[in-house]
Amino acid sequence: MRFDLSAVDLKECSACEPSSYSQIEFQDGQQLSFSFTNRPAVVTVPTRRLSQPAAIKTMMFTSSSEAKPKCSRADDPENDQYSVRPGVSMCWSVLCKNDTGRSHPGSLLGDFGHIERLSSWVHLLAGIVFFIYAVARPFVLTQEHTAAESLTTLSAWSITFAFFSSAIYHVTSPSKRLSRFTRQLDYFAIYLGLASGYVADFAIATKSFQNTSILAIVDGPIACAVVAVFFFVRRCMLSSDETWDTFLGGCTLSFGLMRRMHVDRGHTGVRQSTSFLLSISYFVTVPLLYDNFGTREATTIFILEIMCMFILLIGMILDNKVVQPDSLLSEGRGAGFLACKRGGCVGNAHSIWHILSVIAAVKSAMSREYALTLS
Ligand SMILES: [Zn+2]
Repeated sequence: MRFDLSAVDLKECSACEPSSYSQIEFQDGQQLSFSFTNRPAVVTVPTRRLSQPAAIKTMMFTSSSEAKPKCSRADDPENDQYSVRPGVSMCWSVLCKNDTGRSHPGSLLGDFGHIERLSSWVHLLAGIVFFIYAVARPFVLTQEHTAAESLTTLSAWSITFAFFSSAIYHVTSPSKRLSRFTRQLDYFAIYLGLASGYVADFAIATKSFQNTSILAIVDGPIACAVVAVFFFVRRCMLSSDETWDTFLGGCTLSFGLMRRMHVDRGHTGVRQSTSFLLSISYFVTVPLLYDNFGTREATTIFILEIMCMFILLIGMILDNKVVQPDSLLSEGRGAGFLACKRGGCVGNAHSIWHILSVIAAVKSAMSREYALTLS
């Protein structure tokens, strides 16, 4: 096939008049004539019907620039509900009322919502509940001040710290400058929570470290520290511009789901796999549970922990791999109840992960309390 475009004067085309004429010649001598205009191209086939692929390719060539509808992007300033206006409180905007100065008729968040609102409130409220639990625990639940009891209280404090740190991160996440530090705080608190939970579970399983080597106790915390230091050094070596990214910022039907965040880029897999391994480190204590508690009680504790792990796993897959219902909602599909325009919230993958992480933390605390009653 040969294109003969010599008759086309692009300057003349851009001036709209007149139409230019050209033709495509096929190897078997058949010719296809067509014209370039500022109007949709009209294709005429003078000698025979074209085979389907050739016809489709030719139609795309002649009219693609005019057939595309205007793209509405979520990261256009007119649709952006993620950035907070300069001079406006970030806390107020994310948690209560995000006034962008524009109306957002196509947004799932309504005119004053923010995508981080649900995530922030879930962990803020969970932090308050765990704060009350951590304060009350030594007076209400502790019978005897053993190492296992004290470490369970310490673990409750670390979970409180993790939930509050997460809320701080999500409230500050629209700021590229602040979230560079608060994301580190969020992860540091998670690793601290995992380390203290590991030691508390080990203390419970060994009845306050009876016949236990020091290496077995510090093993989990050292692993958490190594991961935390690795990502801290990585953060120090990279600029904010290198890690700042946008999610669901492209063409979309429903607005309000765009998020911006610092990401781990090439180290995403390292982050996810180490988080997974640290969160399942609890299971090294299972043989000790059976040794010290007997089959029936150990199985009950084990089932509670398995359920926690299952909930965490669903949350991790939903948030990191499937990333739904975000994509569906942005395409104008998905369950309608997930969007609350009145409250300015959307139940996206990350906020669902937050809810599941709270359920897992509550079940884990219940599992520890149950095990302590058996000691
Ligand atoms: Zn989060």
